[in-house]
Amino acid sequence: MSNSLNICVLPGDGIGGEVMAVATNVLEAVGKRIDRQFKFGAHRAGAQHYLDTGVALPEDVLRACEKSDAILFGAMGLPHVRGADGTEIIPQLDLRFHFDLYAGVRPIRTIRGLPTPLAHPEAQNIDMVLVRESTEGLFYSRGRGTIVDDAEAFDNMKISRVGTERVCRFAFEIAKQRQSRLSRPGRVTNIDKANVFASMAFFRKIFEETATQYPTVAADSAYVDAMALNLVLKPWRYDVMVTENMFGDILSDLIAALVGGMGVAPSADIGDKYALFQPAHGTAPDIAGQGKANPTAMVLSAAMMLDWLSTKLGDSSLADGARAIEAAVENTFTSGRLRPVEFGGTSGTTEIGRQFVENVASAK
Ligand code: ATP
Repeated sequence: MSNSLNICVLPGDGIGGEVMAVATNVLEAVGKRIDRQFKFGAHRAGAQHYLDTGVALPEDVLRACEKSDAILFGAMGLPHVRGADGTEIIPQLDLRFHFDLYAGVRPIRTIRGLPTPLAHPEAQNIDMVLVRESTEGLFYSRGRGTIVDDAEAFDNMKISRVGTERVCRFAFEIAKQRQSRLSRPGRVTNIDKANVFASMAFFRKIFEETATQYPTVAADSAYVDAMALNLVLKPWRYDVMVTENMFGDILSDLIAALVGGMGVAPSADIGDKYALFQPAHGTAPDIAGQGKANPTAMVLSAAMMLDWLSTKLGDSSLADGARAIEAAVENTFTSGRLRPVEFGGTSGTTEIGRQFVENVASAK
């Protein structure tokens, strides 16, 4: 087994580069602990790159991603940089389609020591995973939408059997893994709008068919509007959720808010062969360049990368590295000494990053 891993690093725009610098420092510290070497190949891509060169995601960057063991991604897109049809430059969507990264995995957990927006005591126990289908749904229409006579606009939703089966299976597999970790019966909740749309009724049918293959995991379905309500009223009741691309996009931000904000929400985009790890947040132009970005989401995404690599390469040391990162994050905030600007505190990106590295290095 090689102890060296090639990580393709795409810092991107806005706060992407700021939080990525923390993640690579943390990974270097982890590498020393577990005797693995991370070789980072950094590449320019994104909205600024598009402004500078006319290309958002160069071919050679795609080739570098293909050759790497995993892709670590900051954030891309700037509100004022747009293509001819008025939409933003969003290379992360291109990467999802190019590498067939169909499962957008967004875990959300309460972080001890940080204030939660919800006052209910159970808000301390939020621990859920949203699995967002990432290659079809309403996003299938990206680049295909039509505007007729400046009077009507159309975007189509695509729900395929193959695409739905694989993402539902993925969600049930996560629920099974969580069953043993959390010692509780697992549950997958499908989120749709099956009462209105044929495409969504089809998604629900396939979800229910898939559920029969997982008899030890409970399965239920809910309409997206009711879920928007219940995710705020009683989020601690949910375990794993699976949903169509657009609903997943919206609900990802909603569940991040439940534990304090985008800066603590990691994510992974996973396919059968490739995977990309990025925080759930965007480029946050409102705080970019001010040193205020919370790097926690980025660093927890790097931990997800280590877990994925551990399974892919059969290397349990990498999973140990993921646990070391999670512990370092937890220890940084439980003492209450550091509080990110996002949470009303004064701790900036560099200060938090330094503490993460120190905690990784000094953990027993
Ligand atoms: P995208 O559409 O690319 O996902 P977005 O438009 O939804 O992006 P974000 O860039 O995620 O927006 O920012 C949403 C809000 O969350 C902004 O107010 C931003 O400052 C804040 N935010 C996002 N990431 C962080 C972070 N890491 N630390 C602190 N605040 C953040």
